[in-house]
Amino acid sequence: MNFAIEDSAEQSAFRAEVRAFFEKNIPPNLEHSVDPCDMSYEQYQLRRDLGRALGKQGWLYPSMPKEYGGGELSTDNVAILAEEMSKLELGLPPYYDAGGRMSAPTILVWGTPEHKKRFLPPICRGEVRTWQLLTEPGAGSDLAGIKSTAIRDGDVYVVNGQKMFVGSSHGADYSWTILVTDPKGERHKNLSWLMIPMNLPGITVTPMDLLATGGEGGSGSGVKNAVFFDNVRVPADHLVGGENNGWKVATTHLEVEHGGMGRLADRRVIYDFINLCKERHEGWAIADDPDARAELVDLYIEAEITRLFALRNHWLAHTNQPRTYEGSQYSLRRKLSGLDIAEKMLRIAGPLVLTKDKRWAPLKGNIEYFQRDAITALHPGATTDIQRVIMARRIGIGGREREKAANLR
Ligand SMILES: Cc1cc2nc3c(=O)[nH]c(=O)nc-3n(C[C@H](O)[C@H](O)[C@H](O)COP(=O)(O)OP(=O)(O)OC[C@H]3O[C@@H](n4cnc5c(N)ncnc54)[C@H](O)[C@@H]3O)c2cc1C
Repeated sequence: MNFAIEDSAEQSAFRAEVRAFFEKNIPPNLEHSVDPCDMSYEQYQLRRDLGRALGKQGWLYPSMPKEYGGGELSTDNVAILAEEMSKLELGLPPYYDAGGRMSAPTILVWGTPEHKKRFLPPICRGEVRTWQLLTEPGAGSDLAGIKSTAIRDGDVYVVNGQKMFVGSSHGADYSWTILVTDPKGERHKNLSWLMIPMNLPGITVTPMDLLATGGEGGSGSGVKNAVFFDNVRVPADHLVGGENNGWKVATTHLEVEHGGMGRLADRRVIYDFINLCKERHEGWAIADDPDARAELVDLYIEAEITRLFALRNHWLAHTNQPRTYEGSQYSLRRKLSGLDIAEKMLRIAGPLVLTKDKRWAPLKGNIEYFQRDAITALHPGATTDIQRVIMARRIGIGGREREKAANLR
């Protein structure tokens, strides 16, 4: 019996097309594995160029509708594209664009036709990079507790307040931001989302010095920032999803962030590490050691379970299947297995995995970054505790009613 998944003729033709595209469009000086905390401005620009080339094909946001700059690719072809990117150690998008990744599907559900026409094509074509601004000094897990305000004044909203742990290095064109639009309103009924151009007067971005800030996917976020809004006047038609309807909009945003659509093209480094352990040097390979071999098998299983959860969620979301806890299940699994895999790598290969010194570091220092990222990744996009809380509500543990997953279409 053969359990290998093989491409159909059509799928292998698409895979060949993708490979040919990369051959043509990836410049030789693009560094494939870059520690996002250290990514230079030049490397960031090369990735943006690649993003624009992908965008032209509709492949930067490949499942978005063509009319908004996406590719409307089939579920299988999106997975193939992501797989090929992953082999090149690149995410999709190949740079940090969390605001685009989260806002695009959310605007598709909650935006007016005018919002969709205005905001989606620049995101899907890679013309703009967008940050997502949710967290505040007093509100992380408790997102509904945010305090920053956007108060209507004629045809603008005046924004004041502070966001924390957001964005990346090298700036952004827009920030997809949740704010209080009715300070006296009832909790959950007082919030709205604004797409804020980052060049408006009154916005200050201050980098934060953290352990590792690749965030989900580690695709080049660089540093995290505090962002301050001081009487920033945002055109009122940049409010998406209706005034004070922001909690409902947030459910879609959070469903995507929590993994409801999966996260393909992810963590190639784990498989590269396994291959590294199989490499023979002077007649000896790490995998010859029976204890290392047993750990490597466990590590492989961990990585595959997470990858398959991502693939399942991608399929569930894009084929409109019923969903409940699957997003949080994937996210929780990804976070916990990341930490477990990091520990296993350390046990198998020793302290070499903790250095990025070019003379010694295996896989160009990629594993060292994975070690740091595995710790910090426990927090963003909802902590492990919060993922458990969501799962309990959706499985129906401890509550009277089973909560449903948010709309993704
Ligand atoms: C690398 C990184 C990237 C990030 N990127 C972004 C970004 O791009 N945009 C953005 O807006 N934010 C971002 N964040 C912020 C992130 O979303 C918050 O850190 C996260 O929501 C947790 O909030 P908090 O740090 O305030 O912790 P808190 O909410 O204060 O939680 C502290 C601890 O209490 C636990 N806890 C809280 N509530 C409960 C509960 N009800 N039940 C059980 N346990 C609970 C938590 O699990 C945690 O262990 C990022 C954070 C990191 C570390």
